[in-house]
Amino acid sequence: MKNFRFKAIEKVFDRKPIEVEFPSVKASDYYGSMTFNLDTMQEYLPKEAYKAVLEDIEEGVKIKRTVIDQIAAAMRSWALSKGATHYTHWFQPLTGVTAEKHDSFLSLRNDGKPIVEFCGNSLVQQEPDASSFPSGGIRNTFEARGYTAWDPTSPAFIIDGTLCIPTIFVSYTGECLDFKTPLIRSIEAIDVAAVKVAKLFNPEINKVRPTLGWEQEYFLVDSALYYARPDLMLIGKTVFGHSSAKDQQLSDHYFGAIHERAVNFMKELEIEAHKLGIPLKTRHNEVAPGQFECAPIFEEANVANDHNLLIMHIIPKIARKHNFVALLHEKPYAGINGSGKHNNWSLAANGTTNLLVPGKTENENLRFLAFITATLKGVSDYEELLRVSIASAGNDCRLGGHEAPPAIMSVFIGSQLTSALEEIEKAHDRGDFISQPEEDANLDIAMIPEILLDNTDRNRTSPFAFTGNKFEFRAVGSTMNPASPMFVLNTIVAEALDEFSDNVNKLMQDDVSKDDAIFETIRKFSVESRKIRFEGNNYSDEWVEEAKKRGLSNHSDTVDSMYIVKEDSTIEIFEKYKVFTKRELMARYDIMAESYTKSIQIESRIMGDLALNHIIPTAIEYQNTLIKNAKGLKEVLDNKTFSQLSKNQIQSIKDISEYISSIKTNVESMVEERKKANRLLSAEDKARAYAKQVKPYFDAIRYYVDKLELQVNDELWPLPKYRELLFMK
Ligand code: ADP
Ligand code: MG
Repeated sequence: MKNFRFKAIEKVFDRKPIEVEFPSVKASDYYGSMTFNLDTMQEYLPKEAYKAVLEDIEEGVKIKRTVIDQIAAAMRSWALSKGATHYTHWFQPLTGVTAEKHDSFLSLRNDGKPIVEFCGNSLVQQEPDASSFPSGGIRNTFEARGYTAWDPTSPAFIIDGTLCIPTIFVSYTGECLDFKTPLIRSIEAIDVAAVKVAKLFNPEINKVRPTLGWEQEYFLVDSALYYARPDLMLIGKTVFGHSSAKDQQLSDHYFGAIHERAVNFMKELEIEAHKLGIPLKTRHNEVAPGQFECAPIFEEANVANDHNLLIMHIIPKIARKHNFVALLHEKPYAGINGSGKHNNWSLAANGTTNLLVPGKTENENLRFLAFITATLKGVSDYEELLRVSIASAGNDCRLGGHEAPPAIMSVFIGSQLTSALEEIEKAHDRGDFISQPEEDANLDIAMIPEILLDNTDRNRTSPFAFTGNKFEFRAVGSTMNPASPMFVLNTIVAEALDEFSDNVNKLMQDDVSKDDAIFETIRKFSVESRKIRFEGNNYSDEWVEEAKKRGLSNHSDTVDSMYIVKEDSTIEIFEKYKVFTKRELMARYDIMAESYTKSIQIESRIMGDLALNHIIPTAIEYQNTLIKNAKGLKEVLDNKTFSQLSKNQIQSIKDISEYISSIKTNVESMVEERKKANRLLSAEDKARAYAKQVKPYFDAIRYYVDKLELQVNDELWPLPKYRELLFMK
């Protein structure tokens, strides 16, 4: 009987591309057709109601009750016209994936007559109970209810006949249990702080919104092979697998011609995404074989964030139609690149002006420097918060692995901007208090746009890089909800911006002119954030040394980086900007520890199972043939020739025994450590035990299993090998 692996390979040989044609109309004609966007609203709502909604959204106030009923009615008509039968509040609990609980539009009148119904109440609020989601102890039994509440700033959409309404998810007592709530709170915080600074330059600016352009990496693997790998099926990563003789050494996959099966998948993904109003723009092969990336045009951060979660939902869904499984895990395969997400972030004033772009006038360039240095200062003061915002068991496998940014946070701004800041700092180093920009001989503020045009040097090794008109945070994990790094960034930059305007105002009270006060504050911030700027190779050992000297943190894993969540400085800043209460932070801390523990626990179990049930029996089977062979040789050969010629066979038999026994003892010890860890009471201690006592066995066990993979007869090996998983047919 053939093993699963060979049955799967046979299936793969039969695969043909599943052809997808783009619709005959232009993408712009069906873009957003499955979303209840402003155009649809205008079409379905009475004029007055539409105007009222627009105003309320614009001003960020609660939408009036009377209008809500009209919107619900409009949404229902629209959804029914698109064939929807159900609706759901779509929310982002702390599991990391989105949640939905569908209700039918069908209702019964008092007289028993069936009708379709969707009222304002169903739109605004739901009580999905949802008591099994992580709450970090926030929801005790007496307050176990969780509510979802409509976020009118992100358009509702239809997937698979269900109207999905983006919502926040909070407890009965108003504490957030999701990612969206703190993101929205942080967007409000940075709006207020950024407007204050922007007004110093242009009094007409009254609204600043962070923007987010994400880049999403993922792997595609044939579904037949996937189902032959229990580890992929359960955790989306391979726990064993010897590296393929060829993988990414030649960089021939990166930006290469896209495989036909993958292109068809991407076409369908784009069509679906565009219908859902996700402005996908870019697609390409990534570095590792089987790895790809997609990226949209950037949008306002809250909507962009929803769109990233949606794309993480539809990528796997469409992949299945093409006989693929999409792996979003940060590290599906050892030894080759893992997957990340780049969060490109900027600040847009009054809808259109990018505050991270230098302008044509000296005033605009000073404004540019103000926002750049405030970002540097925020990141410098709170680098550990940014670090923990992207910490997870999955991302731990990737960060610092010479394929992804290290765990040390630093900012790359390019040589031109660096020398501009160094010029500005010179006066400070001379001990001058305030000196006019003109007096700094080598710096001409008006020249900044030109020097930046030149700014082609890009440092791909930096975790946080200025790329001409935005900062790109590259340490985010591919499965993560990008809101986590975004609410941290918004909050820490909000504080820096507040400090900026406070400092300018203070100087002006001391009769310093406004321009001088601004210039001096830029200088101050530049000096105070020196430690975070790094232009060199972030993958090098020298940087690790240098960063240590500078006092930057270097937390190699989640459990080491977590402590900062509970520090007073963290509680203070999040409470100050009303992003988290202390209780919410403590809950998140516990949830983070718990999900880390569970993740390692599951990986450890699957490793044990595979090792004992798949690998060892296969090794023994092969070893038996070697033993039989040796016995046979002994029969046909004379003693002398036998002992000369059978050395290798005998050695192989011994090696296999050694590997089997090493695997067994390591699995046993790992299980012992797990038992010990499980007895620990605090979430924190447990996570630490899993990280420091259980996880180290992973490498040990894998080492011997991968050695066996090289020895055992290929025909017996039960798990699809890396060369089969990585290269597409
Ligand atoms: P890369 O070289 O890193 O692939 P690209 O120029 O292709 O960079 O852009 C990557 C992402 O940056 C895209 O998603 C794009 O929409 C986004 N982006 C561009 N400008 C901004 C901005 N002002 N704010 C946020 N994201 C932006
Ligand atoms: Mg990028």
